[in-house]
Amino acid sequence: MTLVEKQKITDFLDLSSDFLGSGYKSAPKEYHFNEKPQKSYKENDSLLQVAEEINACKSCKLCETRKNAVPGEGVQNPVVMVIGEGPGAEEDAQGRPFVGRAGQLLDQMLSSIKLSRNTDSFIANVVKCRPPNNRDPSPAETSACAGFLERQILILKPKFILAAGRISAQTLLQTSDSITKIRHKFHELKIKDESFKLICTYHPSALLRDESYKRPAWEDLKLLKSGIDGTN
Ligand code: URA
Repeated sequence: MTLVEKQKITDFLDLSSDFLGSGYKSAPKEYHFNEKPQKSYKENDSLLQVAEEINACKSCKLCETRKNAVPGEGVQNPVVMVIGEGPGAEEDAQGRPFVGRAGQLLDQMLSSIKLSRNTDSFIANVVKCRPPNNRDPSPAETSACAGFLERQILILKPKFILAAGRISAQTLLQTSDSITKIRHKFHELKIKDESFKLICTYHPSALLRDESYKRPAWEDLKLLKSGIDGTN
């Protein structure tokens, strides 16, 4: 391992004192929406087509408060598709995923296993519009967006999916198990006739709030790396 590679790992593990103030709050139970089924994946579906539909989407109330929808970005056929929870304030302002503090840490995490959002990754979220005050997206909102995410996965055909955080992991695996229980193992995610390898880890925001999550997150990344390298 080179010195630069070592430094990337220590940068990620030692990013300690920073505290992400925003936090994630519970969804109000009385939330209402008008769910419409999204179009489903077809042979000639494209990322651009999905992004255009996301930008025009009015399937749930989040469209009323968003500045920009955040379809996601990255490369086709990525080594890893990172799926977070939903855009925060910075992402909402820019229309790009993971560009705030959590995004900077995510970039370091990817870099620590020699990945980058510009060359071999795709970054997306379970919901494409910002939940007000960074609250958790409601189940209704995640299901209103599910068709978009499913199409993105089927178009991108990522070698691995990294679910970042509880909401993403539970949504993708359709489980209420805790992130602690489902992290650090390979899961098989079946969509239509295709099967994708999925690993769950803690959300970068959780690492910023509580540095004790960094070590297990690093273990998850090493497991992902071993899968990528074919040593697992
Ligand atoms: N947190 C997420 O889950 N996604 C983003 O895009 C930014 C922060």
